[in-house]
Amino acid sequence: MDTFWKDKAIKKIKTDTVQINLGNRCNQKCAHCHIGASPQGTRNMDRHTAVSLLDKLSTLEVENIEFTGGTPELNPNLATFIEGLGRQGKKIAVRTSLTVLDQPEYARFLDLYERRGVKLIASLPSAFEDLTDGQRGKGVFKKTMNVLKKLNSIGYGTGRLALDLVYNPFGDYLPPAQAQVEKEYRQMLKEMHEVSFDSLITIVNSPISRFKNYLLKEDKLDDYMQGSAS
Ligand code: SF4
Repeated sequence: MDTFWKDKAIKKIKTDTVQINLGNRCNQKCAHCHIGASPQGTRNMDRHTAVSLLDKLSTLEVENIEFTGGTPELNPNLATFIEGLGRQGKKIAVRTSLTVLDQPEYARFLDLYERRGVKLIASLPSAFEDLTDGQRGKGVFKKTMNVLKKLNSIGYGTGRLALDLVYNPFGDYLPPAQAQVEKEYRQMLKEMHEVSFDSLITIVNSPISRFKNYLLKEDKLDDYMQGSAS
């Protein structure tokens, strides 16, 4: 191994977080979705796998367990995971669509999340209704604000329970500076909707699945991979 690669060799260190994908079922069908999730998603973790995984996690010295999907609430095993891992003292995070919690049959997760101190992470591509609905579907912004207000009322995003938002670009460009976007979101959501959150994270759209198809259709995949698309 030459000196260049020796310095950059991947070193195995203690695992801090395990992320578990529960499947590709989601109540939304966002244009950029990296895994092509939708209400028709069929690749979901079954009960047998979930129980085996829960057993395995109890043997690991990993402090943080994070669930993603799809939206994890649509997998019937999520509550079992949260109760089991909560009893083991693990720190749990859920990457949620948020709007799923606006549906009466899934509202029970609000109580479970609060009781187990689950951290929530949710996408919100814009503080403007038309832009968010354009990427995530008609009516998503209003439902998201409804759920954020409910979460604020039980302590999320107010210093008691953790609530982070995620910004991703609308199209074939990279996100602006995170601190600036966070400042704008904080101000606009507070002033226009009386909603608060803890942190905002910016992410880059991965050129796979639906987003890759869009780039191919627009003949922009090569430019995007070079970081030079519009
Ligand atoms: S909420 Fe997330 S998982 Fe669901 S369709 Fe949108 S991007 Fe995909």
